[in-house]
Amino acid sequence: AAKRLGRNRCSYFTPSMQEAAQARMRLAVDLRAALAQQQFRVLYQPIVDLATGDVHKAEALLRWEHPTLGLVSPEKFIPLAEETGMIGEIGHWVFRQAANQVQHWRKFREDFQISVNKSPAQFMSEDRVHDTWFDYLRELQLEGNSVVVEITEGLLLDASPAITNKLLGFRDAGMQVAIDDFGTGYSSLAYLKKFDIDYLKIDRAFIRNLAPNSDDMALCEAIIVMAHKLGIQVIAEGIETEAQRDLLAAAGCDYGQGYLFSRPIAAEAFEQLFASTTA
Ligand code: C2E
Ligand code: MG
Ligand code: MG
Ligand code: MG
Repeated sequence: AAKRLGRNRCSYFTPSMQEAAQARMRLAVDLRAALAQQQFRVLYQPIVDLATGDVHKAEALLRWEHPTLGLVSPEKFIPLAEETGMIGEIGHWVFRQAANQVQHWRKFREDFQISVNKSPAQFMSEDRVHDTWFDYLRELQLEGNSVVVEITEGLLLDASPAITNKLLGFRDAGMQVAIDDFGTGYSSLAYLKKFDIDYLKIDRAFIRNLAPNSDDMALCEAIIVMAHKLGIQVIAEGIETEAQRDLLAAAGCDYGQGYLFSRPIAAEAFEQLFASTTA
């Protein structure tokens, strides 16, 4: 049986790997046209204050509507955009959408904030000191604290002076910084001391099986206590059930984000939230 499997593997995997590589190349070509052909859109997922239920924050999440393949997951096309050097341009476009949106939404909620993801490759691909995001903030005359920049732990681990300066630049511009997918990257916590971080986002992996007295619960509680002692607020990602929300709220977690509250939605749909909760 092992022999047969071995033979199958040879005849089966080689062409499929080739096909996968070709599909990826085609996708890269299509990605190059996607901005000009307006196939991108930004959805917004509410970030909920767990103590009050208020929504004063949202995360901007990019979507690609491919003309024949339909919706392509960012897990797939963001890495492709990074490898092909397109991430800078695409990321700047997302930032412009998000900044325009938060400027508008601050008319409803004056402290509204939108967080925008910025991958390590985006930092590497850019000018070392200057960031095009700063220019756009200034162009809009938008307050820096309208924007939270979401970065991952990996970026801070081997932070070169260039990256450190870039992050300081964000702070100078008034923007806040969140560590995304916290707990999944690296075990070093030294960077929390070194950098001025505003939010930790606990990765969905710790929320998924959250139950009283579980290891995940212990980890969440410890993260929350540690963060608060460092003056950092905590956002739990991927809350899907009321039980998860209640456990996190009881543990003192500041904010939650997840399908329980809302999936990522279009800007127009998001505005219904203001309409339904302000009057
Ligand atoms: P992320 O920044 O950690 O974003 C959270 C992801 O979790 C989103 O996936 C969101 O839709 C999903 N999510 C939220 N609540 C739940 C839940 O309750 N259950 C489950 N199962 N999932 C939930 P999405 O939108 O597919 O984005 C995936 C990743 O792609 C993001 O992870 C982020 O790393 C990246 N990404 C998305 N947009 C951008 C962007 O504009 N720029 C960059 N650099 N990366 C982006
Ligand atoms: Mg994020
Ligand atoms: Mg995340
Ligand atoms: Mg992620």
